Amino acid sequence: MSTPSSLVGCRAKIVDMLHSPARTRAVDNWLLGRRGTVVGVLRNGTLALVEVDGKPDEMPGGVRRWPVHWDDLHVQTVQPAPQERRTTYQLGLSHTERDAVHHAVPANQEISLCGKSVHPLPVLGWSLSFLPTAKRACPTCVHLIERGS
Ligand SMILES: [Zn+2]
Repeated sequence: MSTPSSLVGCRAKIVDMLHSPARTRAVDNWLLGRRGTVVGVLRNGTLALVEVDGKPDEMPGGVRRWPVHWDDLHVQTVQPAPQERRTTYQLGLSHTERDAVHHAVPANQEISLCGKSVHPLPVLGWSLSFLPTAKRACPTCVHLIERGS
């Protein structure tokens, strides 16, 4: 079982609204089924702070980050290799096709570590982190990260 703080950065889907704080439950109709990213841990680890996907002006009251109980979330954890640390690189794609290679991109840039011109995911923008363990991770980018660490 992962500790809550290790889940920061994971993608999550809001699947239930049984245990979350009242102010979150008040907009359960809107939040249920939404996806987002765990951006923090609240109340000694009992709650996740979830940044919901979408534009701020679509959010109830313009609020994008909601405290959600872990039991109300389906968190997509990746099984990290023992020595793996979270990278600070964003995920960039070299093509828009389905089999596009995943490249590591430094924050706020559009050139990957290996020198390719890359694009964010069309739907999610630059919100995803590069995962060296991903199936289509660019070997050159992975190598450069490992060498730089
Ligand atoms: Zn690359």
